[in-house]
Amino acid sequence: MVARHDQTTDPELLAALLQARRGTAFFARKLNELTDAELDGDSLLPGWTRRHITAHIGHNARAIARLVEWAATGVETPMYASTAVRDHEIDFGATLSPIALRHLFDHSAVHLNVEWRDLPGDAWHHTVRTIQGREVPATETVWMRTREVWMHAVDLDNGASFRDIPAPVLERLLTDIIGAWHTRGTDAGLVIKVTDQELTLGDTTAESATVVSGPLAAVVQWAAGRGRSGITATGPGTETTNGTVPAAPKWI
Ligand code: ZN
Repeated sequence: MVARHDQTTDPELLAALLQARRGTAFFARKLNELTDAELDGDSLLPGWTRRHITAHIGHNARAIARLVEWAATGVETPMYASTAVRDHEIDFGATLSPIALRHLFDHSAVHLNVEWRDLPGDAWHHTVRTIQGREVPATETVWMRTREVWMHAVDLDNGASFRDIPAPVLERLLTDIIGAWHTRGTDAGLVIKVTDQELTLGDTTAESATVVSGPLAAVVQWAAGRGRSGITATGPGTETTNGTVPAAPKWI
């Protein structure tokens, strides 16, 4: 008989799973608030309608479920055959009927949740490989999903904002983004000040830095390339006099 509760007993992992499940529920709520006709509307991502976002989130759950199956069985099942296949899935998914699109989201989310629930405690440490080629323990799949559901719920552009995202998720997102900049070397001379956490990140040793400040939610929204509201900036690349905030470096 299949267990109805998580196999892992690791409290940290259970907390992470809760964050992913809450994010999925949040995305579901925002999706359900949209009428079928509104699915045709633009998302916050250039060139993508809300249909594309929904198709992407559905296929993302399937892809992550493949990694969990890989961890469970030891049989290599990659997220996607290739990035071209992934992109095609999204484009094709976006053409589905509204009911099929909603089913894709619902069923894939349930399936992923079952895979997580039934993964034995030790198998969570098995190594799998992401589409970027990173070798990670299966525990990482929880974060991979968490950031997708929370952020793309905002991208649906029907009322969700970065302020709806729990602070621990925002903090980890910011760490990811700044890490990606650092890997690419695009963070030189850039300092991030999170005003409501008294946190300073980035190129803090730079002599003449561009300092971008704001509350956590606004900073992450800016860093993720999704707007500048709530942000102030000083230093090179800004116009201190009129408060122009530079665009954040790309991160994905
Ligand atoms: Zn995504």
